[in-house]
Amino acid sequence: MAIHYDILTIFPEAFQGIFSIGMVRKAREAGLASIAVHNLRDYAADKHRTTDDTPYGGGGGMVMKPEPIFRAVEALLAQPGLPAENVPIILLSPQGRLFTHEVAKELARHPRLIFICGRYEGVDERVRQLLATDEISIGDYVLSGGEIAAMAIVEATVRLIPGVLGDPGAPFEDSLAEGLLEYPHYTRPRVFRGAAVPEVLLSGNHAEIVRWRRQQALKRTWERRPDLLKKARLTPEDWEYLQKLERGEAD
Ligand code: SAM
Repeated sequence: MAIHYDILTIFPEAFQGIFSIGMVRKAREAGLASIAVHNLRDYAADKHRTTDDTPYGGGGGMVMKPEPIFRAVEALLAQPGLPAENVPIILLSPQGRLFTHEVAKELARHPRLIFICGRYEGVDERVRQLLATDEISIGDYVLSGGEIAAMAIVEATVRLIPGVLGDPGAPFEDSLAEGLLEYPHYTRPRVFRGAAVPEVLLSGNHAEIVRWRRQQALKRTWERRPDLLKKARLTPEDWEYLQKLERGEAD
């Protein structure tokens, strides 16, 4: 299964670097992802290629006009050879639902995703009302544009396409995949500036290593994001360990 991403922006040049490196590049080269970045100005109706206008009701700033955005999305959905039914049309917005690993998994099940990147004061409300099928925020802060939000969502979903990561189990071990933060990682040297790699990782005892990693994941989550534990899939052994942590009997 592959994903085709369409990104609508007035700054297409912003995407060049990030989509030419790492897993996104690998996914594109393997034919598991394709990304088309579209300049919204190409869908403007006037010779100045205008995509924004002053707000009704006054106030500062500009608002992105609806017509170029509608025209662009309609043209993309009419392209031959690409899915046109049930394609999520995602408006990036600080007012949208929060992007999480669960949302990434949900989006990664679609063969095509369309993103609308806002700028200025945002986009005309009719885009949200009549065109977008989803509205996503990448966090409770305000960016100057939706481009970085689109990049974050592409990076997070590309990793979930089967075959993109070398180790097929890797996306399931990452932080949050099972509702927990991931255990700590170590590589050579064995001792660095006085800090040694935990003995268990050198033991060769695979079962012990698995147990240690699980406990470290639980401990990290308990310390840093206890809110996640409420939704995580935990075994009776996990609960026993968490209770020991609470009582100060485990490390
Ligand atoms: N005035 C808008 C508001 O208060 O909701 C914010 C506009 S913001 C300066 C410009 C654009 O950046 C938005 O239209 C959106 O596309 C994008 N943006 C800003 N913060 C974002 C966030 N946290 N997540 C996703 N997109 C965001």
